[in-house]
Amino acid sequence: MKISFYQYNYEMLKNLLLQNDLSPSGASLLYNWHYKQKQIGSCTHNLALATQAFIREYLSFTLPEIVNVHQSSDLTVKFLMQMDDGQKVETVLIPFQNKYTICLSTQVGCAMKCSFCFTGTQGLKRHLKTEEIIGQFIMADRWLRENRPDDQLLKNIVYMGQGEPLHNFDAVKTASEIFLDQHGTSIGIQKITVSTAGYLPGLIRWNEEMPGVNIALSLHSPFDEKRNELIPINQRYPLAEVLKYLDLIPLKRKQYIIYEYLLIKNYNDTDFDAHATGELLKGKQAIINLIPFNPFPGSLYERPESSQVEQFQKILGLYHLPALIRGTKGDDILAACGQLNTK
Ligand code: SAH
Repeated sequence: MKISFYQYNYEMLKNLLLQNDLSPSGASLLYNWHYKQKQIGSCTHNLALATQAFIREYLSFTLPEIVNVHQSSDLTVKFLMQMDDGQKVETVLIPFQNKYTICLSTQVGCAMKCSFCFTGTQGLKRHLKTEEIIGQFIMADRWLRENRPDDQLLKNIVYMGQGEPLHNFDAVKTASEIFLDQHGTSIGIQKITVSTAGYLPGLIRWNEEMPGVNIALSLHSPFDEKRNELIPINQRYPLAEVLKYLDLIPLKRKQYIIYEYLLIKNYNDTDFDAHATGELLKGKQAIINLIPFNPFPGSLYERPESSQVEQFQKILGLYHLPALIRGTKGDDILAACGQLNTK
């Protein structure tokens, strides 16, 4: 069985070469070839013959296969990607002024079963491997360069696709290290955001292990009773505990913790909810992303009126909390937040 090249961060790759009596300098050549120059074929350039032979024998470069592409009228692109074993996930490219943010999946399905989310209805099939997370990026980036050569900048990464990233901590960590590495794609550390439903075991590991990327919490309510209903893991990992660990994350100047707040009509969108959220977050280095509920087949909730969304935003302003209203890019192709499934 060959091992995927795309699972190795730079240090691991150097060690792999060393352990096989090969020059560790091959690591920078390989990173440059595959991640900077974005070559798919095997690297021959400057690489020692012994290293080339080793790679041929032991490493594989298999990537996910794009089996479906949906393009929205607003230029959002949704890919259905198929992994080696036939499992499929969705990956989304979200346009913003000629640049794109890629929304990566971290699991096939999801174990969190949030009441408002389409992905959760499938349950968890399995974690994605590091190389399958990296593979989504490589395939989407290739598609972009082939199909939209004029606006090909892929500079932002959000782990907000299918799955709970902190439930698959190790793969998300290694993938982030690979994205950040100077020898390769060299994505800026402030340009990567991991979004979590509040999976405490991952938050506990965060400071020690995760490189300093941004973190977003799916808050959705300041009240445990409502959060318990919306995000069932809140029963095990209550909000106060989650916030305690988020507060311990060291932030640079101009770095913020993002709090995502899904607004559901007549459920968590009232002035009372807004004031309680303001009280909860005031004084924190926080940005709030307000996400009006995106319906999906069979969903029970409704999207609030935009006047109520704006009112919610205004109330947060009273607490000096900057709140952005997240648009609904890609909702015509079920590519917006919470609409990802595997069809
Ligand atoms: N499991 C992680 C990553 C998923 S991110 C997390 O929960 O944060 C996806 C974001 O979209 C989350 O903030 C999620 O709460 C939100 N979302 C899920 N379903 C939605 C829906 N139907 N409409 C709008 N946003 C939704």
